[in-house]
Amino acid sequence: MWAFLDGEFVEEKDRHIKLENRGLTFADGLFEVIRTIESKILFFEDHFSRMQKSAIHFDIDLPYCSEYIKNAAHELIKKNGIEDGELYLELTRGTDLHRDHRYPPKRTPSTFFMLALPLRHIDRENWKKGVKLLTYPDLRHKLCEHKTINLLPNVLAKNYAYSNGGYEALMYREERNYRYVTEGGSSNYFMVKDGVLHTPEIDNILPGITREKVTKIIHGLGYELHERRVGLEEFLTADEVFLVSTVSRVMPVHSIDDVHFDAPGTITLKVQEAYEKIFFSFL
Ligand code: PLP
Repeated sequence: MWAFLDGEFVEEKDRHIKLENRGLTFADGLFEVIRTIESKILFFEDHFSRMQKSAIHFDIDLPYCSEYIKNAAHELIKKNGIEDGELYLELTRGTDLHRDHRYPPKRTPSTFFMLALPLRHIDRENWKKGVKLLTYPDLRHKLCEHKTINLLPNVLAKNYAYSNGGYEALMYREERNYRYVTEGGSSNYFMVKDGVLHTPEIDNILPGITREKVTKIIHGLGYELHERRVGLEEFLTADEVFLVSTVSRVMPVHSIDDVHFDAPGTITLKVQEAYEKIFFSFL
């Protein structure tokens, strides 16, 4: 498999990244996962712009424009023969031989690479029958509105879900004995109660690209949607629950821990159909 590393296409044997790269030593970097379908790249500009904004926020140099990276991504996808796949972008603050917490001098180049991988396997039945979620405490920091490579709490949450027969973790935070839902290890959540939709507001959670598309779909379908703090208890007593992400698209949920839901619910199905229409319009 080829990768794109700092402006060049490189084969596996030629991927020379120094062990002192700040991505490895400090998780000092950002990433994106973008879906490809029949070699076309979905919502590239949205993903690139999210990375660009965070790079500016954290003062990490992203020395390429969207057009340049998009062309390189197309070339990489072609080289690797990827049709249905995942394009992975990573930007780190570059190599720092002294492993100093302070930022390296301005002229130190950052590291940017891309991988084009085949799509991970997801059972097609999941989209029809729904998936199981496991609740898990959100152990993360306060930078969750950025897609940082600092992912250990997400890894723990998702791994806990998988090991207990689940598809995703439903993470929650707790304040004064009140538990509220944040997001998944790599997904955003929606719930339906009495015909009205609710989703956790963007308050230290990732502004998902799929979440944004789905929000527009919900408004377009004429449903009421509240973006607010949503209690875990509310999720457990919802009529319908679904998750959204680049890879999972719109995925119904049939259970959270031992609580069961009708899946897919009527509104979930409508949102799912509308999203699939946009998704397949890329073909
Ligand atoms: N929340 C987290 C923590 C994520 O890592 C992801 C994606 O990986 C999402 C939500 C969904 O975001 P997107 O729709 O942009 O894939």
